[in-house]
Amino acid sequence: MKSLDDYLLDAEQAHGHLCAGQVLGVRLAMLGLQQLGIDDPRGNDRKRLVTFVEIDRCATDAVAVVTGCRLGKRALKFRDWGKVAATFVDISTGKAIRIAAKESSKALARQMHPEIADKNQQQMLAYREISDDDLFTLQWVKVDLPPEEFPGYKGDRAVCEVCGEGINFRREVRSEGKLLCRGCAGDSYYKPI
Ligand SMILES: [Zn+2]
Ligand SMILES: [Zn+2]
Repeated sequence: MKSLDDYLLDAEQAHGHLCAGQVLGVRLAMLGLQQLGIDDPRGNDRKRLVTFVEIDRCATDAVAVVTGCRLGKRALKFRDWGKVAATFVDISTGKAIRIAAKESSKALARQMHPEIADKNQQQMLAYREISDDDLFTLQWVKVDLPPEEFPGYKGDRAVCEVCGEGINFRREVRSEGKLLCRGCAGDSYYKPI
């Protein structure tokens, strides 16, 4: 594993700027890997890890930088819960740990550096200094990962009986005797105009 400073440089490059969320995300991911004993997430251990993230914000980019887990590699899973938290699953052992940023960390940053008026600057500095215990909660968990969730999964494609589009990774649903994509089954995020 690289140092915090080295990861922050990488994160700044990938994300476009350095911010409090990057510092939090890098530390969160480093702690997760450390707990699982994964030292080389982008090299020797690159197939060992699946990471669930719970927010689409700055910290998530940093988690991806440290872990090497990406959406396009199916090793990064997004659950939109709006929380600065991530779960790291070691698929070689089945061990998994969920780490969440503590709600108290912002207040603690204010307490530590009242001399810095800018919130982002204040948190950026404090999030480097605050101990893991004060910054995060840790919980060992079990994550059910069916075969179709694994990065290398190869399975049959289904075809939606309504729109005719192909569906991968067993995301089809059965409804009233029909095989449908989630959109046609009523779970759509868009409407045709
Ligand atoms: Zn940012
Ligand atoms: Zn469809």
